[in-house]
Amino acid sequence: MQKFDPATAIQRLDGRDANRGVNPAISDSATFTFPEAHLMTETFHGETEGYFLYSRHWNPSNLALCQALAAMEGTEAAWCTGSGLAAITCALLHEVKSGDHIVSSMTTYGGTFAFMANYMKKFNVETTFVNFQDLEAVKKAIRPNTKVLYTETMNNPLLRIANIPELSKIAHAHGAKLIVDNTFTPMIFSPYRLGADVVVYSMTKFINGKNDCVAGAICGSAEYIGSLIDVNNGTCMLLGPVLDPMRSSSILKNLHTLHIRMQKHGENAMYLAKRFKEVGFKYNYPGLPEHPDYELFCSMMNKGYGFGGMISIDMGTADAASRIMEIMQKKGVGYLAVSLGYFKTLFSNSGKSTSSEVPEDIQKEMGMSEGLIRFSMGLDNDIEATFQLIKESVDEYNAGK
Ligand code: PLP
Repeated sequence: MQKFDPATAIQRLDGRDANRGVNPAISDSATFTFPEAHLMTETFHGETEGYFLYSRHWNPSNLALCQALAAMEGTEAAWCTGSGLAAITCALLHEVKSGDHIVSSMTTYGGTFAFMANYMKKFNVETTFVNFQDLEAVKKAIRPNTKVLYTETMNNPLLRIANIPELSKIAHAHGAKLIVDNTFTPMIFSPYRLGADVVVYSMTKFINGKNDCVAGAICGSAEYIGSLIDVNNGTCMLLGPVLDPMRSSSILKNLHTLHIRMQKHGENAMYLAKRFKEVGFKYNYPGLPEHPDYELFCSMMNKGYGFGGMISIDMGTADAASRIMEIMQKKGVGYLAVSLGYFKTLFSNSGKSTSSEVPEDIQKEMGMSEGLIRFSMGLDNDIEATFQLIKESVDEYNAGK
């Protein structure tokens, strides 16, 4: 496949005329004027270009962000939502009707799992959860009424990598769509270019990188994005989860530093993985050759952005994980908090937090230890010092046992 550089794609997006702000002006309006009445009607029917109707549909600030997101993903278009879960739920709801079926990776963010396992039942939409590393199991789970295959590129929290090209072939052979959540790995992977039909993001995480808001995005073909905001049948237009334009303009500014942040998050996680290995911690990081998906990762990645900022260690029990996280927070390693992609290191015990919606038997089946501490590595300048604090925290816990 041809080399693709998401950061350069964003950078080359638009030239600016002299005498204009370097950042697009913030469009602080819910509704927009038309010079002639017929243009309003035509815009309602999606027959115009360059006109804005109402901010739930489109807004100039949201459009500027979405054009940059589409450039990053190599898609024709994108649309931004008020949260990552809004992007996921709208993308799923848009594909299914009562009686349809979804095949999903067993390992996903807990909220996504709960939406498919519980909430979708209200609409008589059933989901079969399978191990997406086992492509034969995915094929077997498909039924005549399967409309969607759903996965995360790097899954939460086990950090397994989905084989997007193969999954896309399986989906398309059965007339289903492949929807991929790329929240953990923006720029590192370009799922649409690898064969996915729709790419969703929680922009709350790496893309924004500041932990000052929740936001999401849906990326795909122009036709698909147009259908999401169709005034008669569009799931986004009719459920209304649009992102506020003030936020989209601040996220756009942060998007322009995403490539540097991803490189640094990845560099720090890689350093820790090597140090964890040296001292014999039970660690999990997909950037080292002993990870089962290392070769798959290398075959799909855009080079130059590293292997991601997510890394985990297994402390055996939930009690050990809790105590070690408390000590690490006191020592200043980072914060005991959910979420990821922040400039400071965040850590949490997945089984008791972001995956707590997943029943314990399924957690066991997917191979998630109750003592798993998931780290989202920050932009630490002295990562050896951070490693030493983590090691001291573990030693302190072991000494007090
Ligand atoms: N996707 C992944 C992989 C996540 O970790 C999260 C976490 O919250 C979400 C989606 C949901 O995003 P948000 O919190 O922005 O709704």
